[in-house]
Parts: sequence; structure tokens; C-alpha cells
Amino acid sequence: MRNRSRKKEIRSLKPILALGLAVFLCVAIFFLVLRLEGSPPVFAPDAPMEWVSAEATFSGTFSDPGSGLSRVQVLVFAPGQKENVILDETFPARGFLRSGQEREKAFSVTIKPADLGLSQGAAVVAVRAEDYSLRRWGSGNHFYREFQVIVDTRSPSISMLTRAHYVNQGGAGLAIWRLNEPVKKDGVLVGDHFYPGYSGRFSDPDIHLAFFSVTPDQGRDTPIRVTATDLAGNTGASGLYSHIRAKSFPLDDIQITDSFIERIMPQFETGHPSRPDTTNLDQFLYVNRDRRQADYLELVGAGRDTARTMLWEGVFERLPRASNRAGFGDRRNYLYKGEIVDNQSHLGVDLASTARSPVPAGNTGIVVLAGTVGIYGETVMLDHGYGLYSSYSHLSQISVTKGQTVKKGEIVGVSGSTGLAGGDHLHFAVMVHDSFVDPKEWWDPSWIKNNITSKIRAVEESLIPAPGPVPE
Ligand SMILES: [Zn+2]
Repeated sequence: MRNRSRKKEIRSLKPILALGLAVFLCVAIFFLVLRLEGSPPVFAPDAPMEWVSAEATFSGTFSDPGSGLSRVQVLVFAPGQKENVILDETFPARGFLRSGQEREKAFSVTIKPADLGLSQGAAVVAVRAEDYSLRRWGSGNHFYREFQVIVDTRSPSISMLTRAHYVNQGGAGLAIWRLNEPVKKDGVLVGDHFYPGYSGRFSDPDIHLAFFSVTPDQGRDTPIRVTATDLAGNTGASGLYSHIRAKSFPLDDIQITDSFIERIMPQFETGHPSRPDTTNLDQFLYVNRDRRQADYLELVGAGRDTARTMLWEGVFERLPRASNRAGFGDRRNYLYKGEIVDNQSHLGVDLASTARSPVPAGNTGIVVLAGTVGIYGETVMLDHGYGLYSSYSHLSQISVTKGQTVKKGEIVGVSGSTGLAGGDHLHFAVMVHDSFVDPKEWWDPSWIKNNITSKIRAVEESLIPAPGPVPE
């Protein structure tokens, strides 16, 4: 009787036991798969780490999607020396059965070799991470990676080879200097405006040059210096002797009429369809402000990859038999119905000859732009090398194509009144990197000699080795 009832009990328990076993197996499998997973944490640096400067930033992201991170470390050491712990962070778990909370950890640390007693030369930056997997008797999956780096905490030294720099407001200058090591970036800083330096003009590759400019709105006390950043990221600077000559820029009034706006607007409507609720004044202001800025950026973009050679020589040519109609830096008030509605600076020279005059290239260069550029109309832009450009605007016809080399005096097009032009004239502009400069300087043989060619020649002559002892 008792036996039978026990058998019954056991029989009734069987499905419960089976269910229990199944649940246990599921949990076990779940546990084995999830909590004993074998993928270690991974690390991705934000940038390749090759150099350590006097104050280097090292950043990246650790991640462990499987079990979550338990600990991350960044270590810096010289080969065979003790480790400096730069970062050591641990993260909590959510309980024994559950994994870590931190799946991803981004960090940024500063490495200062002087504080760590690291000398110049080879060193190691290492990253280490552990996760909350229960593998390895609960110590988790481990990750370790080393970056072989070079410690360089010395700033590049810059010795100026050009002595004096007399620059007009709105004018250009040339600086030449020698560096003591390779750099990733150098140039002339005028206020906060940067003009990149280039190597390759001289037989010594450590000699760099840069054309630079003082824009019309930069004052006489604007600091000018050369800066250089080496491969490790150390930046050095050198002041240069400079004198900025003040210039005055005349102020003109320009009357804007409805008939002028209605005549010039259709050519701008491709990117800005005129709407019935847009007034003539709105349309004009859109062209004179927004389009002017967009067109300037288009010119700058066209010249981004300047030739690393000086393609030009001697004085620039000017449109023959032409009168100056507007000068460089003229400040203009735009008046509409008796009120000042806008003001802009005229950053080129307007030259008027007979209508449809052939336009010669100011100097030898490569065509980097040949086409329509908004307010400038049909435009040709030439790259003369090392960030020097000339442009020819409002043309009625273009006779060169992009990529073509043109010689000084070669015809690039025919004058006209395309774009924002009141009548047939040539808008001639010169740019140094992304600044418009006064073209008059480039038409002046003595300015070119004093400010450019004599400086280059002086450096070249200093590089010619002195004659050695005559062999017997
Ligand atoms: Zn103009």
C-alpha cells in the first residue's frame, strides 16, 4: 500500500523533475555560453601612436560587448624600465551571475615624458584590459597591446633666413627659414591667419618658404611669426622682424537700382530661385553677401593643391591700355533708395579697356579654374605655385581649360560683364593662399625685386659652398 502510493508519487513527480532538469540545462547552457564566453576586450586607438611629444595626448576606446569590462590600464615605459601607470580604472559588476556594466570605455590621457623620467628615444605605450567573463577561474579574458613609440620632447628650432619684412596693409611678403628637423606643418602666422610653408625651392630641404599677407583689416601691430610642428607634435615659434605700413582704403558709395537688380539677377537664380515674396533688395543682398562668400570659398577650394614650385618669373603683366576703374581694398557702401543696405570691400582691381579686350595671363601658371563663379561671372584662375594665384573675372569668353599651363602674356579669355558687373571690365585679383592681396605690388618690378627675388637669391648664394683648397 505504502509502496504503491510512493510509486505513484514518484510517477507524478517525473514530469516535474524532467522540467527541472530542462530548466537546469537551459540555465547551465546560458551560463556556459554567456558567462564563460572567450572573447577578450578589444581596443581601438583614435589615432595611430608613433610619437610622444612633451605633452602628448593618447586616446581610444576599450570595448567588451560579451561580459563587460572589469579593468582597463594604460602604461608607459622605456624598454626594460619600470612601468608608469597613466590610467587604471576598475568597473563594478552587476552581481556574480550577471556581467559587468561597462561595455565600452573611451578615454583620453596626457603623457608628459619629463614627469615620467622618460628620455628621448624609444618607449612603449601599452594598453591592458580585463573583462567579467568567468573564464580563467573567474579572472576574465585578458587583452594586452603595445605601441612602439619615439619620445621627442624638443620643439623644432627655426632660424630666419630673411631678415626684414616690410609689408603693406593689404600687401604680401615672403619669409624664408631653416628648420633643424622634419616637420608636419609649418608656416607664417599673421595674427591668427596661417600661411603654410613649403620645402623644395632650395637645394637644402630644411629650408622652407611662405608667401604671406597682412589683410586690409589687420592693424599695424599685428604680430607676425613663423611656427613649426614636428612629427611628434612639438611646436616651436620664431618672431620675425616686420614692419607693417598703414594704407588707407577709400570709401565709395554704389547706388543700387531696381533696374540693375532685375538685369543681373536671372544669372544667379539657378541656386536661389526668385520667389514672389522675395523683394529686389533681398535678392541683391543674397547675391552680395551669401553668394560673395560662397564664391570666395570656391576660389580658395580651386587653389587647394598649389604647385610646389615657383612657376612665375618677374613682374606680372597688366591688361594693356586699361584704366583703373576701382582699386584694391576700396570700401563700398551699397545704397538702395537712399539708404545704406550693405558694405563690402573690393578685393581686386577693375581694369577697363575697350569692350571685349583679349586678357593676358599675368604670369606663367597652371589653370586651376575655368568657368562660372557666381558674382565673378566667367572666371579663370591661375596657380603660380607656393600658394600664389591670379584670377580674371567678368569674362565674356574663356580660352583656356583647367589643368593647362599658360605662359606669361598668353590670352586666357576676353573681357566682358558676366557676374555682378556694371559694364565690360576685367576684375583682376591676386591671392596669397586664401587672402586677396593688392595686385599693384605684382605689377611693380622694384617691389618684386626687393621683397621676393632678392631674398631668394640671397638664400641661394648662401648655399653655394665656399671654394675649397685648390688641389696641388
Ligand atoms: Zn571688381
